[in-house]
Amino acid sequence: MKSQFTVEKHPWLIKYFASRNPVHLLVMILPLVWYLVSISNFGSSTILSTSIFVSLGVLWWTFLEYAIHRWGYHSKYPFKWMHDFFGSFHLYHHIDMSDRRVYNAGFFMVYLIAPVVLFPMWLMTQSLSMTAQFGLGTIGTYYFYEWVHFLLHYKVFDGGYLGWIQQYHFFHHEKRPDKNFGNSNALWDILLGTYDEGYKKYSMSLKAQATMITAKDERIDIEHA
Ligand SMILES: [Zn+2]
Ligand SMILES: [Zn+2]
Repeated sequence: MKSQFTVEKHPWLIKYFASRNPVHLLVMILPLVWYLVSISNFGSSTILSTSIFVSLGVLWWTFLEYAIHRWGYHSKYPFKWMHDFFGSFHLYHHIDMSDRRVYNAGFFMVYLIAPVVLFPMWLMTQSLSMTAQFGLGTIGTYYFYEWVHFLLHYKVFDGGYLGWIQQYHFFHHEKRPDKNFGNSNALWDILLGTYDEGYKKYSMSLKAQATMITAKDERIDIEHA
Protein backbone atom coordinates (compact mmCIF):
# COMPACT_ATOMS: atom_id res chain seq x y z
CA MET A 1 0.00 0.00 0.00
CA LYS A 2 1.45 3.34 -0.99
CA SER A 3 1.63 5.72 1.96
CA GLN A 4 0.15 9.14 1.46
CA PHE A 5 1.78 11.39 3.99
CA THR A 6 1.33 15.11 3.64
CA VAL A 7 5.00 15.48 2.88
CA GLU A 8 4.70 13.07 -0.04
CA LYS A 9 1.76 14.98 -1.47
CA HIS A 10 3.36 18.39 -0.80
CA PRO A 11 7.15 17.95 -0.97
CA TRP A 12 7.68 21.74 -0.73
CA LEU A 13 6.92 21.36 3.00
CA ILE A 14 10.37 19.82 3.38
CA LYS A 15 11.87 23.24 2.73
CA TYR A 16 10.17 24.70 5.81
CA PHE A 17 9.95 21.77 8.23
CA ALA A 18 13.14 19.83 7.52
CA SER A 19 16.75 20.61 6.72
CA ARG A 20 19.31 18.96 4.55
CA ASN A 21 21.91 18.43 7.24
CA PRO A 22 22.87 19.77 10.68
CA VAL A 23 25.02 22.54 9.18
CA HIS A 24 21.99 24.01 7.38
CA LEU A 25 20.08 23.67 10.62
CA LEU A 26 22.79 25.55 12.53
CA VAL A 27 22.37 28.55 10.25
CA MET A 28 18.64 28.47 11.04
CA ILE A 29 18.97 28.21 14.81
CA LEU A 30 21.81 30.73 15.24
CA PRO A 31 19.45 33.75 15.51
CA LEU A 32 17.59 31.95 18.32
CA VAL A 33 20.85 31.05 20.09
CA TRP A 34 22.06 34.64 19.70
CA TYR A 35 18.78 35.95 21.15
CA LEU A 36 18.94 33.57 24.13
CA VAL A 37 22.57 34.53 24.82
CA SER A 38 21.65 38.21 24.65
CA ILE A 39 18.96 37.89 27.32
CA SER A 40 20.61 35.26 29.52
CA ASN A 41 22.46 37.84 31.61
CA PHE A 42 25.31 35.51 32.57
CA GLY A 43 27.23 38.42 34.13
CA SER A 44 24.82 38.82 37.02
CA SER A 45 24.14 35.10 37.66
CA THR A 46 26.25 32.88 39.91
CA ILE A 47 28.10 29.96 38.36
CA LEU A 48 25.98 27.61 40.46
CA SER A 49 22.66 28.99 39.30
CA THR A 50 23.80 29.09 35.66
CA SER A 51 24.99 25.46 35.90
CA ILE A 52 21.66 24.39 37.40
CA PHE A 53 19.53 26.05 34.71
CA VAL A 54 21.72 24.93 31.81
CA SER A 55 21.75 21.34 33.20
CA LEU A 56 17.98 21.37 33.63
CA GLY A 57 17.75 22.45 29.99
CA VAL A 58 19.97 19.54 28.96
CA LEU A 59 17.78 17.10 30.87
CA TRP A 60 14.63 18.73 29.48
CA TRP A 61 15.77 18.08 25.90
CA THR A 62 16.55 14.40 26.63
CA PHE A 63 12.95 14.11 27.82
CA LEU A 64 11.51 16.09 24.88
CA GLU A 65 13.42 13.94 22.43
CA TYR A 66 11.73 10.92 23.96
CA ALA A 67 8.28 12.50 24.37
CA ILE A 68 8.07 13.99 20.87
CA HIS A 69 9.17 10.69 19.34
CA ARG A 70 6.94 8.45 21.45
CA TRP A 71 3.76 10.51 21.86
CA GLY A 72 4.12 13.01 19.03
CA TYR A 73 5.20 10.78 16.17
CA HIS A 74 4.18 7.26 17.12
CA SER A 75 0.70 7.95 18.51
CA LYS A 76 -2.44 6.37 17.15
CA TYR A 77 -4.21 9.41 15.77
CA PRO A 78 -8.01 9.50 15.69
CA PHE A 79 -8.07 11.22 12.28
CA LYS A 80 -6.25 10.41 9.09
CA TRP A 81 -5.22 14.04 8.52
CA MET A 82 -3.48 14.02 11.91
CA HIS A 83 -1.65 10.84 11.02
CA ASP A 84 -0.65 12.37 7.68
CA PHE A 85 0.41 15.68 9.16
CA PHE A 86 2.17 14.63 12.37
CA GLY A 87 3.58 11.46 10.87
CA SER A 88 4.75 13.20 7.75
CA PHE A 89 8.37 13.47 8.72
CA HIS A 90 8.89 10.67 11.18
CA LEU A 91 6.56 7.85 10.07
CA TYR A 92 7.62 8.69 6.56
CA HIS A 93 11.25 8.38 7.75
CA HIS A 94 10.38 4.88 9.00
CA ILE A 95 8.95 3.93 5.61
CA ASP A 96 11.74 5.43 3.54
CA MET A 97 14.98 5.57 5.51
CA SER A 98 16.91 6.50 2.41
CA ASP A 99 15.23 9.91 2.02
CA ARG A 100 17.82 12.11 3.68
CA ARG A 101 15.70 15.24 3.26
CA VAL A 102 13.86 14.39 6.48
CA TYR A 103 16.78 13.38 8.72
CA ASN A 104 16.87 16.79 10.40
CA ALA A 105 14.21 19.23 11.53
CA GLY A 106 13.85 22.62 9.87
CA PHE A 107 13.09 26.25 10.53
CA PHE A 108 9.39 26.06 11.39
CA MET A 109 9.74 22.94 13.48
CA VAL A 110 12.30 24.72 15.69
CA TYR A 111 10.65 28.15 15.86
CA LEU A 112 7.15 26.79 16.51
CA ILE A 113 8.24 24.33 19.20
CA ALA A 114 10.88 26.45 21.02
CA PRO A 115 8.47 28.97 22.66
CA VAL A 116 6.14 26.16 23.74
CA VAL A 117 8.85 24.08 25.39
CA LEU A 118 10.54 27.05 27.11
CA PHE A 119 7.32 28.61 28.39
CA PRO A 120 6.91 26.32 31.47
CA MET A 121 10.30 27.47 32.79
CA TRP A 122 9.35 31.11 32.34
CA LEU A 123 6.07 30.42 34.15
CA MET A 124 7.91 28.83 37.08
CA THR A 125 10.73 31.36 37.42
CA GLN A 126 9.17 34.52 35.90
CA SER A 127 12.75 35.22 34.84
CA LEU A 128 13.80 35.77 31.24
CA SER A 129 17.48 35.22 32.02
CA MET A 130 16.93 31.90 33.81
CA THR A 131 14.60 30.77 31.02
CA ALA A 132 17.23 31.77 28.45
CA GLN A 133 19.98 29.83 30.28
CA PHE A 134 17.66 26.84 30.48
CA GLY A 135 16.85 27.33 26.77
CA LEU A 136 20.54 27.32 25.84
CA GLY A 137 20.95 23.95 27.61
CA THR A 138 17.89 22.66 25.76
CA ILE A 139 18.86 23.92 22.32
CA GLY A 140 22.51 22.85 22.72
CA THR A 141 21.44 19.29 23.53
CA TYR A 142 18.82 19.42 20.80
CA TYR A 143 21.49 20.34 18.28
CA PHE A 144 23.71 17.50 19.54
CA TYR A 145 20.77 15.13 18.99
CA GLU A 146 20.33 16.39 15.41
CA TRP A 147 23.97 15.60 14.68
CA VAL A 148 23.63 12.15 16.23
CA HIS A 149 20.55 11.34 14.13
CA PHE A 150 22.24 12.57 10.96
CA LEU A 151 25.40 10.53 11.67
CA LEU A 152 23.39 7.38 12.46
CA HIS A 153 22.06 7.51 8.91
CA TYR A 154 25.37 8.62 7.45
CA LYS A 155 27.40 5.42 7.81
CA VAL A 156 27.63 2.22 9.83
CA PHE A 157 29.57 2.71 13.06
CA ASP A 158 31.51 -0.02 14.71
CA GLY A 159 31.43 0.34 18.50
CA GLY A 160 31.82 3.43 20.65
CA TYR A 161 28.96 5.76 21.56
CA LEU A 162 27.77 6.11 17.95
CA GLY A 163 27.94 2.35 17.35
CA TRP A 164 25.87 1.74 20.48
CA ILE A 165 23.20 4.35 19.79
CA GLN A 166 23.04 3.31 16.13
CA GLN A 167 22.17 -0.24 17.13
CA TYR A 168 19.61 1.17 19.58
CA HIS A 169 18.01 3.43 16.95
CA PHE A 170 18.00 0.92 14.09
CA PHE A 171 16.49 -1.73 16.36
CA HIS A 172 13.65 0.78 16.82
CA HIS A 173 13.54 1.30 13.04
CA GLU A 174 13.66 -2.32 11.97
CA LYS A 175 12.27 -4.40 14.84
CA ARG A 176 10.34 -2.53 17.50
CA PRO A 177 8.91 0.88 16.54
CA ASP A 178 7.06 0.75 19.88
CA LYS A 179 10.30 0.57 21.91
CA ASN A 180 13.59 2.43 22.32
CA PHE A 181 12.39 5.93 21.46
CA GLY A 182 15.58 7.64 22.66
CA ASN A 183 17.70 8.81 19.74
CA SER A 184 20.75 9.89 21.68
CA ASN A 185 20.27 8.18 25.07
CA ALA A 186 18.29 5.40 26.75
CA LEU A 187 17.43 7.25 29.98
CA TRP A 188 13.71 7.89 29.44
CA ASP A 189 13.09 4.50 27.84
CA ILE A 190 14.45 2.93 31.02
CA LEU A 191 12.49 5.26 33.31
CA LEU A 192 9.21 5.01 31.39
CA GLY A 193 9.17 1.30 30.55
CA THR A 194 9.92 1.27 26.82
CA TYR A 195 13.48 0.00 27.03
CA ASP A 196 14.00 -3.23 25.05
CA GLU A 197 17.45 -4.72 25.43
CA GLY A 198 16.86 -6.89 22.36
CA TYR A 199 18.90 -4.28 20.48
CA LYS A 200 22.06 -5.76 22.03
CA LYS A 201 21.64 -8.94 19.98
CA TYR A 202 20.39 -7.19 16.87
CA SER A 203 22.51 -6.38 13.88
CA MET A 204 21.48 -4.04 11.16
CA SER A 205 20.10 -5.62 7.98
CA LEU A 206 21.85 -5.15 4.66
CA LYS A 207 18.73 -3.36 3.46
CA ALA A 208 19.13 -0.77 6.22
CA GLN A 209 22.87 -0.48 5.56
CA ALA A 210 22.08 0.29 1.93
CA THR A 211 20.05 3.36 3.01
CA MET A 212 23.13 5.07 4.55
CA ILE A 213 24.19 8.34 2.93
CA THR A 214 27.68 6.94 2.27
CA ALA A 215 26.23 3.76 0.75
CA LYS A 216 24.09 5.86 -1.56
CA ASP A 217 27.02 8.05 -2.54
CA GLU A 218 29.05 4.93 -3.36
CA ARG A 219 26.15 3.64 -5.43
CA ILE A 220 25.95 6.94 -7.29
CA ASP A 221 29.70 6.79 -7.93
CA ILE A 222 29.35 3.28 -9.33
CA GLU A 223 26.39 4.33 -11.47
CA HIS A 224 28.37 7.27 -12.84
CA ALA A 225 31.60 5.32 -13.34
ZN1 LIG B 1 16.26 7.49 12.05
ZN1 LIG C 1 10.30 6.20 15.33
